[in-house]
Amino acid sequence: MKPLIQLITSHGALRSGSGLLTGVIALVLAVLSVLSVLAFHFPEYLTTPEVRRRLDIDGLRRILFAALVIAGGFSVLNFVRGHRRWLATISFSLVLLAAALGGHAVPVDPNFPNNTPYIGLDWFVLDLLASSLLFIFIEKLRPLRPDQPVFRSEWQTDLAHFAVIHLLVGLLMAIVNSTAHGALAALGSQPWHAWVEQLGWPLALPLCILVADLVQYAIHRSFHEVPFLWRFHAVHHSAKTMDWLAGSRLHIVEVVITRSLVLAALLLAGFSKGVIDAYIIIVGFHAVLNHANVNLRLGPLRHLIVTPAYHHWHHSSESLALDCNYAAHLPIIDRLLGTQCKPETLWPTHYGVVKDDVPPGFWAQCRHPFR
Ligand SMILES: [Zn+2]
Ligand SMILES: [Zn+2]
Repeated sequence: MKPLIQLITSHGALRSGSGLLTGVIALVLAVLSVLSVLAFHFPEYLTTPEVRRRLDIDGLRRILFAALVIAGGFSVLNFVRGHRRWLATISFSLVLLAAALGGHAVPVDPNFPNNTPYIGLDWFVLDLLASSLLFIFIEKLRPLRPDQPVFRSEWQTDLAHFAVIHLLVGLLMAIVNSTAHGALAALGSQPWHAWVEQLGWPLALPLCILVADLVQYAIHRSFHEVPFLWRFHAVHHSAKTMDWLAGSRLHIVEVVITRSLVLAALLLAGFSKGVIDAYIIIVGFHAVLNHANVNLRLGPLRHLIVTPAYHHWHHSSESLALDCNYAAHLPIIDRLLGTQCKPETLWPTHYGVVKDDVPPGFWAQCRHPFR
């Protein structure tokens, strides 16, 4: 167990040729496979209604089968080659465990109860798999800092934030929906709803992004300017290394406040569920991309859309960049309200909180605002 704990608590580049890269891929896939098999066994408690309603179960079974084959294959290969046999043994044991529990062929009762309390284990596994594949590919294709490893310092903290926000998705959605809908129920239908409803998607979606970003701007700026709120938001800014996972470092109180108020504004504006769902997908992708270790410049489009460089400056601890670039999608909001950074270089060199008073580690960061 000692080498496993050492591996999980360490950081740095996975040098190829030593079996470490394939060993870690096998371990990750084997762990995710066991979790997936459990989700197949207990869908009422371990899967998210909004996710399972939209996904093809046979497609998921094929992905699980492929993960088991890859994890098992890499483990056998590394064992035969004598590369980190302890790691290969652990991964292969997990593959055997997943297979013994039924593997990709676990039958699912189509009439399982639909209204049980649940944790979003499926959402965690699927989003971790999809996001890591997509964004690590983009980061390797056009890296901003080529020497920065995927497993950089404090990756464990950010993965814990990622896991908790995904596993608690049901609870978060229940709080956000009841807060937003509850706040608006008394107001009823508004005179402008008919006008918003008749807008086609090409107009409704950009308008929805504009409304959401204006509200997000106000909340985000308040999190910077109100000292009590800053204690929560400082957790997000405490990341000293930027990559796709760093954006997940968010205090859960901030997540609830921001999502509730933005959703309330979109409902008050009268946008349809389809338009709001499309916006949620866009914000999910854009927010992760903006933190990524990716040298992506959009030419003149950078004046229209927030780019990674724009949001990296928001995270900079350099004095000229403090409390600016609040917008999540549309830089024009900062330009009009006088909060846009005017950096002399394309990218910042230092990130984090100036006072550097946010402790490392997930639990310490959860407690930080209340100290
Ligand atoms: Zn901020
Ligand atoms: Zn950020």
